[in-house]
Amino acid sequence: MKPDAMPIYVTQPTLPPLEEFLPYLQQIWDSKILTNGGQFHQQLEQALASYLGIPYISLFANGTLALMTALQSLRISGEVITTPYSFVATAHSLLWNGIKPVFVDIDPQTFNLDPAKIEAAITPQTTAIMPVHCYGHPCDVKRIQKIADNYGLKVIYDAAHAFGVKHSGSSILNHGDLSVLSFHATKVFNTFEGGAIISPDAKSKQRIDHLKNFGFVDEVTVVAPGINGKMSEINAAFGLLQLKTIDMALARRMEIDTRYRAELAHVRGIDCICPAPDVTPNHAYFPILVKPEFPLSRDQLFMTLRENHIYARRYFYPLISDFPMYRGMPSAASANLPNASRMASQVICLPMYPGLSTAQLEQIVQLIRTA
Ligand SMILES: *Cc1c(COP(=O)(O)O)cnc(C)c1O
Repeated sequence: MKPDAMPIYVTQPTLPPLEEFLPYLQQIWDSKILTNGGQFHQQLEQALASYLGIPYISLFANGTLALMTALQSLRISGEVITTPYSFVATAHSLLWNGIKPVFVDIDPQTFNLDPAKIEAAITPQTTAIMPVHCYGHPCDVKRIQKIADNYGLKVIYDAAHAFGVKHSGSSILNHGDLSVLSFHATKVFNTFEGGAIISPDAKSKQRIDHLKNFGFVDEVTVVAPGINGKMSEINAAFGLLQLKTIDMALARRMEIDTRYRAELAHVRGIDCICPAPDVTPNHAYFPILVKPEFPLSRDQLFMTLRENHIYARRYFYPLISDFPMYRGMPSAASANLPNASRMASQVICLPMYPGLSTAQLEQIVQLIRTA
């Protein structure tokens, strides 16, 4: 294929040279310990707690199991307030726990749950709020906590996009009762598949660690109907290797972000979305809004990019609330979610990953400019 015919996806994992992974594999082969909290699992938990600046972390096989287990560990039931503007796993984790999601609209500036609209959705059945730090941009954690405190609700953050994000100098993962990360191949930090729950104290971590291992406390004692959510040694080893280069990867993401912003700044009808000023972002995504003033519709631009082998994605379209298992719910009505509906009709996430070359970026920008 000619270089300009090579597909460019919205994201692409950064893989270290294979030789660098072989010594880790050798250790696994030598020890014959493949899972169940082996040495790499323990090392990765320690390394991540220290890198992220968080007290306790429990690794999982993926982010969705981590979300489901987080809800179990806090014994959440009834109704949970959440956002329609996210990946479908956010709401699915509620359904898998027999919990009813109640959708609340987003703030069109932040793309996150609008705190001003949460209270009106609280009923006697509400037990928790599950916001998402969408695109890694922090939620209004203070206002959300205040509402939760006033009504006695738990807060579980879906922080799948928020690896390494800081807010006023401290990790965004230190808010709420629990936060959940995803280490899926498409995320900023990946372990092929993987995820984690961040807990504020040792007791919460211990309960989560029991739950992710069938509820076993020791060989003969099972204290809860747990699940198999454990991360394997191969995934944990890959995480340790990936962590060595994460700062370089984040720096390259920042360069790409800056360049996109500069190149698109004066394109009429294209808005770039910015995180708040006191945030250390991770540039997980590069979302743009295609406004009515742009000569093409959002979907026309999306198709034009496709025809040129650029596979941008419309995150998050459709809204979760538009999928068949949710759309009959009263809170899923688009009249209840005007901002989320508008953003879902205008957004495109442009390719964003450390391996994206400046030439590729220029090609993408040129296509948008000449549309
Ligand atoms: C990726 C993602 C998940 C699911 O994580 P997996 O590791 O793929 O199971 C959940 N929520 C959001 C917002 C995500 O982007």
